[in-house]
Amino acid sequence: MIPFLDLKKINAQYAEQLKETAIRVIDSGWYLFGKETENFEKKLADYIGAEPSQTIAVGNGLDALRLILRGYVELGEIQENDEIIVPANTYIATIIAISDNRLTPILVEPNIETYNIDIDKIEEKITEKTKAILLVHLYGQAIWSEKLEQLAKKYNLKIIEDNAQAIGASWNGIRTGNLGDSAGFSFYPAKNLGALGDSGAIITKNPELAKAIRALGNYGSERKNLNAFRGVNSRMDEIQAAFLSVKLDYVDVESAVLQNIAEYYCENITNPKIILPNYKAVMSSEVKRSRDIPLKQGDSSTTLGMTISHVWHIFVIRCKQRDELQKHLEKHNIQTQIHYPIPPHKQACYADTPLAKLHLPITEQIHREVLSLPISPVMTQKEIEAVVDAVNSF
Ligand SMILES: *Cc1c(COP(=O)(O)O)cnc(C)c1O
Repeated sequence: MIPFLDLKKINAQYAEQLKETAIRVIDSGWYLFGKETENFEKKLADYIGAEPSQTIAVGNGLDALRLILRGYVELGEIQENDEIIVPANTYIATIIAISDNRLTPILVEPNIETYNIDIDKIEEKITEKTKAILLVHLYGQAIWSEKLEQLAKKYNLKIIEDNAQAIGASWNGIRTGNLGDSAGFSFYPAKNLGALGDSGAIITKNPELAKAIRALGNYGSERKNLNAFRGVNSRMDEIQAAFLSVKLDYVDVESAVLQNIAEYYCENITNPKIILPNYKAVMSSEVKRSRDIPLKQGDSSTTLGMTISHVWHIFVIRCKQRDELQKHLEKHNIQTQIHYPIPPHKQACYADTPLAKLHLPITEQIHREVLSLPISPVMTQKEIEAVVDAVNSF
């Protein structure tokens, strides 16, 4: 079986370093709020181009988004029942972060080509209650434009990025996660920068928000036993921070490997029943084309000479006979996944809300037709070819 994503094999690439790291943290006797977390925050800030003091490690990606919105609420910049614009076809965590803060998600249809929010459909949804646009760089594809910046300015909206799927992507040389006012990251094990457990982070350009969020993630306490807010407990373990510091050095190298696999798929999948991803900017980027880029510590985007716009978190194709295609691939020993089978507005948890009444034909079509093929930095050429052959024989 060609697995959808072989996490064991991915982490085995770094096994020696990860094991040394684990021993160091175990022996340190210090497991939270220590120098490993501080070091990771610095490294992530440096990678993204952000302020280390405004880069905050948290428990997971959902908490990152939840805490950003909670922070704005605590600062009085967003009030209960205010509206947050969000793409309708995102992973449900993005929507939960909004509804959990008693804010109203306003779903906007995506562009069928890019699967990202259709920027042309945002303005018609803006009301007096609209306070922010929560962008999602879905599947690794960066979404940003000057028009979006102008909209935010015109209506005084914050732009929040859900960067869970797109670490390493950039727009005009600025990394995603550093484009808007604030951004949430997820280091869930299957993400492009994956911990060996749960982790997340927040980056913001607003120092006041950063300060509030640091407190909110630690019971609302800025100083021990003084609680400014009724906060939550959401922090990154020292051991996860230490693992992430190791793996962050390889993110760009892995992105380049994924890029090569994606290019191979796009060039060789010729079955007319299949709609390939339309990552035009990726296909024309100057990523090094060699399929065997050596993994060595300290390699970075600059040393590889990349001007990458998008990254590949998952490789999503579309097919009218999606379920039959999935069965066909299964028969050929290829494991696939669907991102995502049910759109958020059709989920049972929102059945009693106005979301349930929405008619979102593009979103619903995407959820009916998408299928994610295996793509990972540890796939062999033979596996990549087997996927192509099986898709073409459908
Ligand atoms: C993974 C993901 C999240 C949530 O991250 P967790 O770390 O799993 O909580 C949020 N948004 C998107 C788009 C994601 O892919």
